[in-house]
Amino acid sequence: MSAQITEYRLDGIYRQRQEGFFMQRVKLAAGVISSEQARAVATAATRFGKGTVHLTTRGSMEIHWLKEGDLLELKSFFATVGLTSRGACGGAVRGVTCASQGAAGFPAVEAMARRLHRHFTANTRFERLPKKFKIGIEADAVGRRHLIQDVGLVLSASDDNGARYDVYVAGGLGREPQPGFLFEAGVAEDRIIPLIEAIARVYSAHTPAGKRLKYLISEIGEGEFRRLVSLEPSASEVLPPVTGLPENLVPVLGTRRIVAPVYAGELTSDQLQALSAFSDQFGGGILMVTADQDIAFHVDAQLDADKTTSALERIGFSGHQVTFRVCPGSHLCLVGLSPTRDVARTLHESMGPAAKNLNWALSGCPNSCTQPQLADVGIVSSSLQKDEQGERSPRFDLYRLGAEGLGNLVEQSLTLDELCSKVREIV
Ligand code: SF4
Repeated sequence: MSAQITEYRLDGIYRQRQEGFFMQRVKLAAGVISSEQARAVATAATRFGKGTVHLTTRGSMEIHWLKEGDLLELKSFFATVGLTSRGACGGAVRGVTCASQGAAGFPAVEAMARRLHRHFTANTRFERLPKKFKIGIEADAVGRRHLIQDVGLVLSASDDNGARYDVYVAGGLGREPQPGFLFEAGVAEDRIIPLIEAIARVYSAHTPAGKRLKYLISEIGEGEFRRLVSLEPSASEVLPPVTGLPENLVPVLGTRRIVAPVYAGELTSDQLQALSAFSDQFGGGILMVTADQDIAFHVDAQLDADKTTSALERIGFSGHQVTFRVCPGSHLCLVGLSPTRDVARTLHESMGPAAKNLNWALSGCPNSCTQPQLADVGIVSSSLQKDEQGERSPRFDLYRLGAEGLGNLVEQSLTLDELCSKVREIV
């Protein structure tokens, strides 16, 4: 791979599996995007790609099938609508995620996500880190997403004195899933950014290239890590309070949340255009990419529910589908081990009606981008093995979520047929 192509990563660009094509990821703070910006993504996907947009579990949008010669023009085009991809891939602070968009505390969380996004995006002090550095911010701990971040923030209080967050660190999935641990409880919001800076500096200074923060903790231990962070001047710094008008875009009070289910996070440009128009009419011009790869809207609670439901149905989004998070896998991703979309369709055929009561996730490799260890039923394509005919075919690991923490590995190295049998036993 040329040095230049590696450099593209910090601009949110990865090489695609197909030679000569690239994927561009767009970072969205807490998954929130305006309809004007969503239209720009749809237009770009048509103009530069093949007219498809992939929604990720981290609230980003991805466009595939891009040619190298178009990447600069695409970057400029996104800049005209205030979209950025800087740090969306590579060793940087990635998009700030939020899985609790509908919660009462979301306005405070969204505002904080915007501040974090603004502070760390294109901040060269926090680029060229040993590996990716993920921040997630949640209004509650229900979805357990705070456990899988390098820094996971959970809103613990919000009043006239500002918000406070419980700060978890060093979580991550991949080949060795590790839940984050509580680093400090009830941190005031004006200490959050300097504290994360201190954590990122320690990570950067003490971790070999290619390793996440969880690796550093396994090497030096929690106590030594806390000591190193405490030596950083910013660890105890308090920023001046943020004053002025609130900067969150999504209203929660007086609204009703509605979700357009997007199977496996696959949208066409036309569908994204239609959802943007729906948002202009009913959702205040705001769309949200959810942690389950759907698109959500907060509509005025006074609006007739039937009217909004039928409007969504008219543009092709209806019904309560099986929630199934699916990454692009070997269809598009360089490291994918299985054709995830085909596998998901096969699994669907093995599912009974009870499948709708569960949350499912399938990842195309152990990187676990769809967070299978946080799904009721999580599937990881774990290896490729030769069958009797000498053909290499994927094997799958199965995870089931327990009462707390990350999901437990319950089956390993299943063939697709064996996996289908297990799915039939579950539902
Ligand atoms: S889980 Fe693996 S195959 Fe799927 S998108 Fe992530 S890196 Fe690619």
